[in-house]
Amino acid sequence: MAFNKRVKIKTILDQNPIGSELTIMGWVRTKRSNKNVTFIAMNDGSIITNYQVVADPNLISEEILKKCSTGACLKITGTVVESQGSGQSSELNAISIEVLGEADPEKYPLQPKKHSLEFLREIAHLRMRTNTFGAVFRVRHALAFAVHQYFNDKGFFYIHTPIITASDAEGAGETFKVTTLDIANPPKTEEGAVDFKQDFFEREANLTVSGQLEGELAAMALSEIYTFGPTFRAENSNTTRHLAEFWMIEPEMAFYDAEDNADLAEDFLKYLIRYALDHCMDDLAFLESRLLDEEKSKPADQRSEMGLIDKLKFVLENEFVRITYTEAIEILKRSKPNQKKKFQYLIEEWGADLQSEHERYLVEKHFKKPVILTDYPKDIKSFYMRQNEDGKTVAAMDILFPGIGEIVGGSQREERMDVLLQRMEEMNIPTEEMWWFLDTRRFGATPHAGFGLGFERMVQFVTGMGNIRDVIAFPRTPGNAEF
Ligand code: ATP
Ligand code: MN
Repeated sequence: MAFNKRVKIKTILDQNPIGSELTIMGWVRTKRSNKNVTFIAMNDGSIITNYQVVADPNLISEEILKKCSTGACLKITGTVVESQGSGQSSELNAISIEVLGEADPEKYPLQPKKHSLEFLREIAHLRMRTNTFGAVFRVRHALAFAVHQYFNDKGFFYIHTPIITASDAEGAGETFKVTTLDIANPPKTEEGAVDFKQDFFEREANLTVSGQLEGELAAMALSEIYTFGPTFRAENSNTTRHLAEFWMIEPEMAFYDAEDNADLAEDFLKYLIRYALDHCMDDLAFLESRLLDEEKSKPADQRSEMGLIDKLKFVLENEFVRITYTEAIEILKRSKPNQKKKFQYLIEEWGADLQSEHERYLVEKHFKKPVILTDYPKDIKSFYMRQNEDGKTVAAMDILFPGIGEIVGGSQREERMDVLLQRMEEMNIPTEEMWWFLDTRRFGATPHAGFGLGFERMVQFVTGMGNIRDVIAFPRTPGNAEF
């Protein structure tokens, strides 16, 4: 028998093959024994449910059973029988057990009890073996798969935009430098500046903050495209919603205006949520129960009104609210926390940038629904957003989600060369080195639009995890790049 001729626990639970002899492989979650029999709860990651193995000490030696401690990896051959106990329909009567990898019970960091998320972050190499992180990463996978499914079904093409770029798409983004120069002793120009002409790319380079600009080039040929890749921001924001390395999905579409863009974004977000509800119910049910436990330790007025699954269904069943920035400012000005000076940043006048406290007020207190905010003042948005007729606002769109705040940022793009050039000059964006971007406006320009969905924020929303560090396998944050 080839080594990997094993049956996944998920398959056994799906098919319930009573009477079959088969082999499972996985890790011990718990073991308990009485003098007649040993029960081993096995998990192989294929599904949240553990599978019960029953070992008869007359068949399996005491020496082997001793090594079947929490965390050990086992290969077990046995017969599937109807379960004696409640809680599962079948179990495996062990015929033989091979210990593939021992886990010293004195040293194994995960015990069969609840660990804090903070503690688990310090053992990111093992935290995936917990129920919570198994569920999170299965849901994350399903959502990533659904992203491709959604766009493929709609005829969008997946474009791999570069990770190393020489442009900083947002103009003001905090970038990570990419260089092979000797940083202790870099070559200098005559003026004494670092001579990047001698660097690998013969110019300054950095990790990308967004694939949008390159995505626009592709949309100007293939009509509808999307990117789904890692992006990097060296912003020093230690929040529960920011990572230094995160994944972003950026569709970009020719022949779309701002309304088409918002329609697509709403449909896409709902598709992802529906996909998770259709394919990850057991994991979501677990995550919901874990949230309920967590809520019990909170004061009553801070507990959420809806369970996780109801919250997801609620978002699916309701239309997102669509309002302009100007309308939002009016609501915020009149709001209680503004009147009573409870906001850290008070909203005094039109033009103010919205902070996450304002976004969350709109979504969680005022509308209690996802909100699509449009038509922001041009001065707080990027140069590439299309100017509206009023000369003051741009066709921007941010989508705000309960518990998350901004989940999507997008816009209709400025396709008019003269308006774009003027804006770039006003905002000190070097037009010469952006010649390749401007060429799309020079040759065959058309109205087009796009947006960026922060993938981890979406996973946060669907799994209900409070901290963005807990929805990515190996979080990168300021001061943190272990593993
Ligand atoms: P924020 O205001 O929340 O910092 P942003 O306006 O800088 O976000 P955009 O440049 O519009 O973000 O990026 C598009 C999307 O990428 C955001 O809507 C968000 O979902 C996600 N995103 C942005 N920055 C981060 C980050 N540091 N970590 C994780 N996701 C992020
Ligand atoms: Mn944004």
